[in-house]
Amino acid sequence: MSTKATSIFSDPLVRAILRQVWEDSEPGPAGGHEEGGFILRDSGGNLRVERWPRGQQDSITVPAHRNCRISDQDIVATFHTHPNTGSDYLQEPSETDKRAVRNDPHMKGACYEGEFVISAQTIYRIEPTGQVSEIAQTKDYFAEE
Ligand SMILES: [Zn+2]
Repeated sequence: MSTKATSIFSDPLVRAILRQVWEDSEPGPAGGHEEGGFILRDSGGNLRVERWPRGQQDSITVPAHRNCRISDQDIVATFHTHPNTGSDYLQEPSETDKRAVRNDPHMKGACYEGEFVISAQTIYRIEPTGQVSEIAQTKDYFAEE
């Protein structure tokens, strides 16, 4: 993991929002729905989060994001949740998830660090190349201040 991704991921504001997003996706055996969003950096260098419309149980639609930007702000990362822990549901990023990041020409900005996928146990990162790594244990990450 690059230091840039670490700093985005450990930013207190980002952490607080990801915790909220995880709770909003109603994690559990089967009743949850995916939530996701863009992590943006404004011209002053500040990070902010723009959430996507609520997803389905095992999918979510990414809003348009031409040239890896939302209005005049660079997309530095994206994220979505995998809230359902039942055996019908994949915890790790799916092939579709990986392909969506790897094959998206509008997710190739110089500042884009990849997509975080939050599951009940593990938080993964899909790099722009489509490669996946485990970057944190979910409960440890949300327990940090
Ligand atoms: Zn997914």
